[in-house]
Formats: sequence, structure tokens, C-alpha cells
Amino acid sequence: MVILTRKMIEVRNLLLQIDKQETLRLPSIVVIGSQSSGKSSVLEAIVGHEFLPKGGNMVTRRPIELTLIHSPESASEYCDFPELRLGKITDFSHVQRTLTELNMAVPAEEVVSDDPILLTIYSPHVPDLTLIDLPGYIQVVAAGQPHSLKTRIADLCDKYINAPNVILAISAADVDLANSTALRASRRVDPRGERTIGVITKMDLVDPERGYDLLTNQEYPLQMGYVGVITKTPLHLGFSNRHSNMTQSVALDEERYFSQYAEFTNLQTGVLTLRRKLMSVLETTMARSLVPTTQAIRRELEESAYKFKVEYNDRSLTPQSYLAQSIDAFKLSFKDLTAQFGREQVRQLVKAALDQRVLDTLAQNYWNLPPELESATPNVLDNVPLSSLSSSSMANMGYWQTKLDNSTASLTKLGIGRLSAQLLADTISLEVRGVVDKTPFRKHPLAVQAVERAVTNILEPRLFSTADQVENSIKPFKYEVEIDDREWAQSREHSYNLLKEELRQATVAFNRLKDMVGSSKLNSVLQYLDSRQRMAAEGRLAPADAFGFSPALLDTGKEARFLQIRCDELRMRMAAVKSKRCISRENKYQCPEIFLDVVADKLTATAVLFLNFELLSDFYYSFPRELDSQISALSEKQIQELAEQDPQIREQINLQRRRDLLKLALAKIQTVTEMTHSSASKR
Ligand code: GDP
Repeated sequence: MVILTRKMIEVRNLLLQIDKQETLRLPSIVVIGSQSSGKSSVLEAIVGHEFLPKGGNMVTRRPIELTLIHSPESASEYCDFPELRLGKITDFSHVQRTLTELNMAVPAEEVVSDDPILLTIYSPHVPDLTLIDLPGYIQVVAAGQPHSLKTRIADLCDKYINAPNVILAISAADVDLANSTALRASRRVDPRGERTIGVITKMDLVDPERGYDLLTNQEYPLQMGYVGVITKTPLHLGFSNRHSNMTQSVALDEERYFSQYAEFTNLQTGVLTLRRKLMSVLETTMARSLVPTTQAIRRELEESAYKFKVEYNDRSLTPQSYLAQSIDAFKLSFKDLTAQFGREQVRQLVKAALDQRVLDTLAQNYWNLPPELESATPNVLDNVPLSSLSSSSMANMGYWQTKLDNSTASLTKLGIGRLSAQLLADTISLEVRGVVDKTPFRKHPLAVQAVERAVTNILEPRLFSTADQVENSIKPFKYEVEIDDREWAQSREHSYNLLKEELRQATVAFNRLKDMVGSSKLNSVLQYLDSRQRMAAEGRLAPADAFGFSPALLDTGKEARFLQIRCDELRMRMAAVKSKRCISRENKYQCPEIFLDVVADKLTATAVLFLNFELLSDFYYSFPRELDSQISALSEKQIQELAEQDPQIREQINLQRRRDLLKLALAKIQTVTEMTHSSASKR
């Protein structure tokens, strides 16, 4: 029948996994007692090792769900904290430290927590048992502890001492039993003494007559009686034995002590007696709850199976299968990207970047705006004579030739390799991020990280070599750029449109200011600014007062003036591009906008050739494989974590897990039922 308890303990632990706090659980033995009653010593004598936290400062703050598994085949003993994944622990002082840490982690203001610590001990020296160690009752609240502590501990114990649990009520022999908090608590919930075992510790501290009275306590008679123990070997007993097993050595000392006195002859004494008693009591209690627990499991199972069917259509889902589905969805979406973002898109990207550079170069070399002005505050304009913005005054051909050559050089020596390769890499990252956002991956930071790692792993090592190759390929343009009529015409069109767009933007900005200030007010500010500039040009001092214009209004005025000038300039440049002079490529020195656009086009075309081949195509080819390898590097735990990053998926997985565990528990408990039936019929 020993097998029965073992199987029931397995079922019990399964049920614990389903829900730690729930009513759906098999009975256990609950150990209660006041602080210093000798509770820890009793538990340790049963287990045969010191493993419980020691020290005065409320060292047990959480219940410890202790499962003892008798394992004759295993030569060594080991412990396991099933929830912590620390693996097998063979060193009991390690267990002691871990328990101390877990208990001390309960915040000071809470002091006790009802979240149990699960601990399993495998050993050839222990019987199959489950015991729950609870925080010891306290009489007086120590300094620095909350006043509610006493009742909080009592409340926590009350949760556990309900039927069908068996109560192990520990009291010390040297304390009046009428004052035993443990016995008082169990009497409240078990007035007829049907499921309480009394344990009287420190029997060595009272004389045998008193000891006899305690163990035959008539005040609160217990059907399972009282057991007297001596779990610390006090020096005054004069016994010394060095038995390698603690349980055996305690038992030996007890045997020597109790056998000295006739009073104990027919009474229950010793840890071994206690252990045997616990085993048989647990077995009968478990057997009694077999039927009700089976029914409860069945009910729960039906409920969760129904819920699973209704809500998830019985579609089974594991973290692995979910991840596999998500990868498929991601790859499908990625395939769309490869179709949508290709060579032409790379060309547009690079060209747009170069267009901006062309505009900058022209501004710097032709439109005489000092570079700081492009981004500077408009009041710098106070010092810029308007006339210098015009380009028409110079007629010297050599001058224009040098200027265009310089401009071309500043484009070709820009570092287009680095610029364009980095631009493409950044854009690829962004596009991939866009794919993530379209798929379930977006809900899983761990998946996003895997994708990002895959992207970086491919792009990073290719970035420099691609930049180099691009740079090499555009080298010839540093010396000579040949142009045909078609290219010229195309660029003329493009430059015109580019300027038109710039003009549109500047106009929008100007109109925004006008709407803000009001048309007539803006005009008067502009007039004032003009007059002030004229006076400055003529060397006259401007009047101190500013006609009552506020500094903010003056700033807005300066900005508007700047935009006006910009618009004028852009219109002039558009006119230049459209002029007859610029129809022919022969006049390239007078039409730098067009010429530089041709250069930009050629640079772009060459760069794209390499970018497309070395970076983009290669990326598209390698990425799915690299992603696979990133994902396969995830541990099972990470995959589970990943899947559960989506609350809905977490819920589905949990419900399914619950259903499966309940199925397993039901199957197990049914084999136990069969076992009891067959052993009953054999008798
Ligand atoms: P807990 O606070 O209830 O867990 O009690 P402990 O097991 O830590 O024991 C409290 C004190 O009582 C310790 O100093 C033990 O050495 C002592 N003690 C425990 N069992 C016995 C015993 O059987 N005889 C004697 N004389 N002292 C004991």
C-alpha cells in the first residue's frame, strides 16, 4: 500500500502545478507550533538533515510545501526546488541558504506571505510524505515588527489547517499545554480531535510523571494521540553517538531515554514512531479524498475542456508551434518586401540623397549664401547685401569653369560609398521593422530582438566592403563626366522640378507666417526692416525705437524676409534652367544645376549597381537563413517566454496546459483507484 501514498503524492504535485492556491488539491500534513516549540527540530529529525532556516528574526515567512520522496535506488540524496530550476542540490546547507534567502525576500512590511515555497527531497532515508511547514506562532511582537504580525501569522495558519489536512500540533513539554497556541488553533477547527496529531517536544526537560500526564492529555483528547519526542540531544543526557544518519541518532537517543522509565511503556514516543504514524495517517487521509478529488478534477477538466473548445475551437497550441506559425507569417511578409523594395527603390533613395547634396553644393558655390546662413537665424540677413545673391554679374568663363569643376569635385569626393551604403543599410533595417509591425512578431520583444540581430549580423560585415566597391566604381567620374543630349534633357527637366518643389515648400512656409501675423502687419514689419537695412547701407544710424514692433514680431519679419529672398532666388534659378541658354549641353558652365544633376544621376546609377548586388540581393538571400539560426538559438524557456509575451497567447497556452495537466492528474488518480479496488478484492 506504500505505493498508494507515492502515487497520490504524484497526483498532489500535479495539482499543485495547476494552481498553487487552489482548493483542488489532495490533503497534506500541516505543521504548526509556537516559535521555539521545537518545530524545526522535529521536521529535521524526520528528514534526517538540517535544512531549515535558523535564527531569531522570523526566518519562516512563507509556507514550505515539503515533499519527501522515498527513493531506495538512488545512492545519494538530493533536493529540488521545482519552481526555481536550480537542478539537483545535494548539499543541505545550500538548501538552508536558499530557503533563508527566499524567506528574507518577503518585504519587511508584509512579514509573512501565503505564496508557498515548493521543495522536494529525494532520499533512501525518507518515507513518502508531504508536509507543510508554516511560520511559528508568536506570543509577543518584537520591536520593529508590525503589530498585525501576530494575527497575520494566525490567519495564514488558519488557511492551511482546514479539513481534509492533517494537523501536526507541536507543543514543548516545558510549557503548560493549556497555553499551547498550536493545540488551541487545532481545537478550534477540529474540536473532536479527529485529524490532529499532538507532538510534545523536549520531553527530556520534564520528569517522567509530568511527561506521562502530557502524553495522555485529557484536556483535549486526540484520536491519534500524542507522541513525545526528544529531537535535540541535550548534553545532560550524557548520551553521545555519532550515527551518520541524523534520524537514526535521534531515535537512538530517544530510545535510551524513554526506555529508562516505566511511565512511557505503553505510550507513543520517538521520532520513528511519529514518522510511521504520519505515513499511515497520510495514506488513509489520501485514500479518503480519492473519490471527492477525482470528482473535483473531473469537473474542472470538463470546464476547461469546454472553454478550450468554445474559445479556441480545440486548436492546440504550444509555444513552439506558435513560434513556427509566426515565423511563417513573418517570412511571407518579408517576401512581399523583397518584391516591393528593389533596385528602382534603391535608386530613388540614393538619388534623393544626392539631390539634396546638389542643392547644398549649388547654394554654397553659386548663390553666395555663406554656409552658416542656410541654417542660421534670419537676422544674419541684416548684414547680407541683397545684390550679392545675384549671379548674373560675372562673365569670366574661366571663373565659371573652375566653379563647376569644384562643385563636381565636391560631389564625387563626398564619400558616396559610405553615404549610400549606410543609407541603404538603415533603410533595410527600417523596412524589416515595418515587416515586423505587420506580423505577430510585433507583440514579442524577444522576436524583435532576434530579427534585429539577424539584420545586423548580415549588414554589418558587408557595409564596409560595399562602401569600398562603390567608391572605387565612381572613381572615373572624378576625372571626367561625359554627357549625351538625352541625359542633359532629362536632368534639365528634373532640376526644374526639384527647384519647383523647393519653391513650393518655401512658399508654404512664408504663407504660414503671413497667416500667423496677418498680411498687412507683416507688410509693415517688412517695410520697416527694409528701411533699416537701407539706412545701415548708407552708414546712417537706425532710430532706437522700432515703431512699437515687439522683438518676436521682428524675428518673424526677418524670417519672412529670408523666405521671400529664397523664393525670389528659386524663381530666378528656375528661369535660368528653363532659359534657351540651358537647352544645349554645350553651355554647361552656365547651367550648373543641370550639369550637377547629370553627375548625380551617373553616380547614382553606378552606386546602385553595387549596392543592389552586394548589399540588397545578398541580404534578401541570407536573411531568412540567418533569422532561422537566431531563432533556433533560443532556449525552450526563451521560446515559452516569447510566446507568452502576447497576453492572448499566454492565456490560450495556460488554458491548454491546465487541461492537459488535469487530464494527466485524472489518469493518474484513476490508476490509484484501480489499485485500491484490486487490493481490496484480493483480501
Ligand atoms: P522552532 O522555533 O519551533 O523551530 O524550534 P527549534 O527547533 O529551533 O528549537 C528551539 C530550541 O529548542 C532550540 O534551542 C533547540 O535546541 C531546543 N530544542 C529543540 N528540541 C529539543 C529537545 O528535544 N530537547 C531540548 N532540551 N531542547 C530542544
